[in-house]
Amino acid sequence: MERDLETIEDLGEFEFIRSISQGCIHGPEGILQGIGDDCAVIGPFGDKVLLVTTDLLVENVHFILDRTPARHLGEKAVAVNLSDIAAMGGVPRHLFVSLAIPHSFPLRILNALYEGMKEVCRAYGVNLLGGDTSASLAGLFINVAVIGEAMTDQVLYRKGASPGDSIYVTGPLGEAAAGLKILKGQIEAGLADWPSLIKALTRPRPQVEEGRIIAKSGLASAMIDLSDGLVADLGHICEASNSGAEILEECLPLSNTLISFAKKYNQDPIGLCLWGGEDYQLLITVPAANGPAFERMFKEKGCGPVYKIGKITEGRRIRCVRPDGTERVLHGVGFDHFKEAGQ
Ligand code: ADP
Ligand code: MG
Repeated sequence: MERDLETIEDLGEFEFIRSISQGCIHGPEGILQGIGDDCAVIGPFGDKVLLVTTDLLVENVHFILDRTPARHLGEKAVAVNLSDIAAMGGVPRHLFVSLAIPHSFPLRILNALYEGMKEVCRAYGVNLLGGDTSASLAGLFINVAVIGEAMTDQVLYRKGASPGDSIYVTGPLGEAAAGLKILKGQIEAGLADWPSLIKALTRPRPQVEEGRIIAKSGLASAMIDLSDGLVADLGHICEASNSGAEILEECLPLSNTLISFAKKYNQDPIGLCLWGGEDYQLLITVPAANGPAFERMFKEKGCGPVYKIGKITEGRRIRCVRPDGTERVLHGVGFDHFKEAGQ
């Protein structure tokens, strides 16, 4: 008998989004992508499209105010949105900020928040054009929306992957998840002991330049940024592309710091890498024939290393192959706001 789905917790974040995504488009002309990718894609206008994305940061869900400098919080609120523009291969242009602020909230913190936001906007040439301000009865809410642009024929969607494509990521994974454990006090470690893990969590660098170079090369078939966790975000690519994936455990990029951290505190670095979120690296699929050119191009453009971690497969499962050849099926639940008790 079907269960009565009554609360958002029963449904989960991703099913909820799926459930509301019908009946949303009334003027389909000029909508290249609605709900279901890192950005909405609108156009074309001449040979370009507009990219639009928005992300919400909620106190005590996404950040703990007294453990994160407000300036870094402002940087991150902008960076995570730029990351979604990067994931489509676009250039961010304009930004809107909406805040819900508790009564008696210190102005000093709000000013530092804006310093951080403006700093990242300056670095990426993004204009802050507006927003909204409200009182809040329960903590600080920060919503940022960004408009970007891209050449129509260069946009990379989640839906472009095909079986046989190689899967790449642009940098080490799992560091932000380790930083979160430290920040939440789940591990007996001081914030100052692991600065690079805390930095990975609180000051992610959006891969805008890398995303542009990848899109321009024409060598990739799909792209997403890693915000929910490798398995969840690869799951989004697989769902949109109606495919599965095979990840090779030994190819997962683990930083030396993460390995030392995991050893010292008896943590599973592979687990942090697979399920931990907020890496804000890009995950790219590349037709196998384009692989060598893609790797060469990445190196030549000075983008640093790119890591091949597996391939897209037929079917709908995501499997992880261990070094001894045995494998396990990963079920695709990364970070879901309503499926995991308090991030
Ligand atoms: P990302 O992690 O890349 O920011 P999300 O998982 O937040 O992406 O969102 C996936 C898709 O669902 C996006 O197209 C986003 O715009 C859309 N979406 C998320 N929440 C809502 C909502 N409450 N109403 C409408 N669309 C939503
Ligand atoms: Mg995204």
